[in-house]
Formats: sequence, C-alpha cells, structure tokens
Amino acid sequence: MTYLEREPAAPKAWQDEMQVTNRYTYGVAGERFFRAIKDESKILGTRCNNCEHTYVPASLFCERCLDHLDEWIDVGTTGEIVTFTHLYVDYDGSPLLEPETIAFIKFGDGGIIHRIESNESQQIEIGMSARAVFKSKTERAGSILDILHFELMTS
Ligand SMILES: [Zn+2]
Repeated sequence: MTYLEREPAAPKAWQDEMQVTNRYTYGVAGERFFRAIKDESKILGTRCNNCEHTYVPASLFCERCLDHLDEWIDVGTTGEIVTFTHLYVDYDGSPLLEPETIAFIKFGDGGIIHRIESNESQQIEIGMSARAVFKSKTERAGSILDILHFELMTS
C-alpha cells in the first residue's frame, strides 16, 4: 500500500493531539557535509573523477555513473552567484518589512541556495562572488542555517 492509498479502517479525522515522533537523518554524506559546516566552517563536496563532476552539497554516489564517491573536497566558502531573486513577501504572503535577496551560489558543479546580505552601495549581479558568513560556533545546530548568510565580495 502506498501512502496515497487509504486504509479502509483508518479514522477519517483525529480529534486529539497526535503522538507522532520521527527523526530525520541527513544520511552519510549529509551528516559529514553539515558536520563540516557546524564544526569546521567548511563547505564540502565530493568528486567523481569518472565524470569530472564535483557534487556540492556532497553526495555519496555519483548521479551519472552511480560510482561510490569517497574523495571529499573543501570547496572553500566563496562561491559564484548564478541566479538570484528578491523576496517581498513571506511564506504566507505577508509583506516583509525588509525585502530579502535569495541566490543560488555555485560551488564545484553544484551549489547552495541561501540569503544574500549586502549594503546599499552593493548591487547584486550574476557572476559576483559571495562568501559564507557563519553563525558563532556556540549557536550552530548542524543545518544550512549555520551559515547566517552570504556576503557579496566586491573586486
Ligand atoms: Zn560519475
């Protein structure tokens, strides 16, 4: 039975608090990727030399040739802005007090989607470099939000 099929005897509604517990794990590669961000302020990728492809975030297997990947690469904390957008409303459609800029920042052959912070004199453009700004180590929890934001690098 898939989760799209209903159990005929299942209740149609639940009137009380549901006691649901679960635990999400990042998987082997995700664990190492997020631990490197949390503990070392590093962004890691994995390299497939068959395909000459560097996965960021790191992956345990190559999507192209299915080879196991065990070559871990520190890709640095400065990437290239590939695309960006400005957000004026939040998830529920309410206007933001301050617009936010979200970008895809390229690392290796992949990248990270994250918030861009810039001052008023900096105009974001595709191709610019952006550097990760990490939370203090005591505030980190092992998530992508351990990176506070990316800041634009002016050349
Ligand atoms: Zn490959």
